Amino acid sequence: MASVFSHAVAALGIGACFFRPGTPKRVWVTGALCSVIPDLDVIGFRFGIRYGDFWGHRGFTHSLVFAALLATAALAAGFWKKAASLSRFSLWTYFFLATASHGFLDAMTDGGLGVALFSPFNNNRYFLPWTPIRVSPIGIGRFFSERGLAVIQSELLWIWLPSAILVISLWIMRRRAPAVVA
Ligand SMILES: [Zn+2]
Repeated sequence: MASVFSHAVAALGIGACFFRPGTPKRVWVTGALCSVIPDLDVIGFRFGIRYGDFWGHRGFTHSLVFAALLATAALAAGFWKKAASLSRFSLWTYFFLATASHGFLDAMTDGGLGVALFSPFNNNRYFLPWTPIRVSPIGIGRFFSERGLAVIQSELLWIWLPSAILVISLWIMRRRAPAVVA
């Protein structure tokens, strides 16, 4: 895992691509939640599920299929029906990308097992060819170690900074775009 906050920040960065004035905040909160839900799989360690198993850490919950299922479930919950500024397809795509970003960011970390991106069709674990993000220890206690600082630094550089650049550039582009006359 990259740490929970960094996954949520990435989801908010992706959300900036879908931003429309008047979109309820709960849409972005749902996107952020989607991005952290895959790591609930760490609960499996307590029940004897091994890291490399189907339900193990970075297994099925980190796959593209799971992202599609979670996006569908989030949409089916339907509690933002008044989010008329975004189509259902845009909302689904946003929730899908927010969830899928989790697996891809984990696949960019330099430790642990790889990510089962193509589960359940192919349960092999993958890393991307480029793994600049320091892997975050599992569990809060161990996070506050000397290694924790190196993890935070790498997540700030490779997740928070690109997300902030994305949000700011989209904001500037929108300000410059001529107003659409209805
Ligand atoms: Zn993860």
